[in-house]
Amino acid sequence: MSKNKGILIVVSGPSGVGKGTVVDMLLKKLPRAVLSVSCTTRAPREGEQNGKSYFFISKQAFLKMIDEGGFLEYSNHFENYYGTPRFFVEEKLKDSDVILEIDVDGAENVKKLYPDALLLMITPPSKDELIRRLKMRGTEDETLIQHRLERADYELSKSKIYDYTVINDDLNQTVDNILKIVETRRKG
Ligand code: ADP
Ligand code: 5GP
Repeated sequence: MSKNKGILIVVSGPSGVGKGTVVDMLLKKLPRAVLSVSCTTRAPREGEQNGKSYFFISKQAFLKMIDEGGFLEYSNHFENYYGTPRFFVEEKLKDSDVILEIDVDGAENVKKLYPDALLLMITPPSKDELIRRLKMRGTEDETLIQHRLERADYELSKSKIYDYTVINDDLNQTVDNILKIVETRRKG
């Protein structure tokens, strides 16, 4: 990796584990880091803003973007599409660290395109705690929570492809651990 090029940091983990919370804190502590905002066809949750949490687009617009080669990677789950816009990542990586908060299938595809990417899997301290956090967030009904828990087992089973697994127990400790990992990678 050349000296001025940023690090592509991929953050994955089961829904509700705290990825969004951790990434928000990382962005404040890593001055060179920018977040790649994904496109999705799912409906916004309360409080989610278009262009900030995601670009919320129609299925038709998403399929058109696939055809045009507009995604670095994309996947389809919970009956919706999620994808990383290609152009933003390619441009920003020239001089910034770029954070992708994506699922395990996306991470696997990114690793093929960018073997130097730093893959981080965030795991919960326990399954009960994951359920507690999902319920506490209060953005999904029981059926959707059940879907997300089933998906969690799949996500966790793929942790072998990741460079590091970080347990998100104490939030500040988690962020500190990740900052140390990033600095170690930067030193190469
Ligand atoms: P994700 O992006 O992985 O779906 P969120 O960042 O939305 O998860 O976090 C889910 C819930 O868990 C939120 O209510 C958040 O405040 C809470 N949370 C995140 N990290 C921790 C932690 N280390 N300890 C306790 N609660 C946490
Ligand atoms: P949520 O609906 O909870 O926001 O996200 C569901 C899952 O989609 C999470 O695992 C999240 O990391 C993943 N995801 C979000 N954006 C992308 C993306 O651009 N590509 C892929 N492959 N997964 C994504």
